[in-house]
Amino acid sequence: MKTSEVKIGTVAIGNGNPITIQSMTNTDTRDIKGTVAQIHALEEAGCEIVRCAVPDVESAFSFRKIKDSISIPLVADIHFDAQAAIAAIENGADKIRINPGNIGGREKIIAVVDAAKAAHIPIRVGANAGSLSKDVLQKHGGPTAEALIESVLENIHILERAKFNDIVVSIKSSNVPVCVEAYRKIAKLTNYPLHLGVTEAGTYHMAVIKSAIAMGSLILDGIGDTLRVSVTGDPVQEVYAARDILKSCGVRKSGVEIISCPTCGRCTINIEKIAESIEKFTQNISIPLKIAVMGCAVNGPGEAREADLGIAGGRGEGLLFSHGKVIKKVDEFDILPELRRMILELVEERNKE
Ligand code: SF4
Repeated sequence: MKTSEVKIGTVAIGNGNPITIQSMTNTDTRDIKGTVAQIHALEEAGCEIVRCAVPDVESAFSFRKIKDSISIPLVADIHFDAQAAIAAIENGADKIRINPGNIGGREKIIAVVDAAKAAHIPIRVGANAGSLSKDVLQKHGGPTAEALIESVLENIHILERAKFNDIVVSIKSSNVPVCVEAYRKIAKLTNYPLHLGVTEAGTYHMAVIKSAIAMGSLILDGIGDTLRVSVTGDPVQEVYAARDILKSCGVRKSGVEIISCPTCGRCTINIEKIAESIEKFTQNISIPLKIAVMGCAVNGPGEAREADLGIAGGRGEGLLFSHGKVIKKVDEFDILPELRRMILELVEERNKE
């Protein structure tokens, strides 16, 4: 759905721009070296916008140095402390994420909004099922989609009353059906860009499943301008998961897609190990490639006709194929080095095109 355009540093979101991948550091923001190192790892994985927690003014003072050492837009995440928000803006934040309801009253909100206006940066406001007010929860009988909508509209109106419209909106729940319903409804009520997320999604396995179902459903509906997969753990994993969700929805072509068969009684080589190894080997390749890893020559090449390159297992050997056609037979132990070599060769060729 068409939304307005908002600029976060050099990255534009909304208005049909590609859906961008966000993540959030889990270092202490005052630890500039550690935070910058983590952001570099996130950048390398494909993160396009990064957010850091700013719990106090001291953390906000780190922003300038962090920003000078990274090349993607930097967002400040602030709760309760208007001074920290203003300090983060003054120290180069490209966007701030606040909850106007907990920033300390109208005067403080106006001060934060004025600082954002002066710096020409947007503000993300959202509703989160875990921090809805008692009144809203009582009125709606719990953290329902309607409760989230009421809360987020109130937050939007607070900014609009302060004559601020450079807004990004999020409306998160850890309950997937509630989350999807809330985003579908808010998408009809506002045209501010939407930041997709499932809150407190859990450790890697469940976080990826919940996020893929919720964000996948929304993206296929045409809803969403930027996303963050929340994982309890290494944020680099969030970026890989976000990339895979966008690829699976067909809205992002970059990066390698591994097509691997589930194996069956025909398979006689260790396909799982080969598939995992190739996935790791290719995870930072950004050009679009499809690599098939199939258990046997009976159905392998045919099943993976769309793949740029592939391997089909045989007894003690492997057949290397390209676009469904077998091009070479290699010994089982040479499959991985040979496939890696061919992938690098193809990447080099594509980079020259
Ligand atoms: Fe079985 Fe071969 Fe199909 Fe893999 S490609 S599932 S081994 S038939």
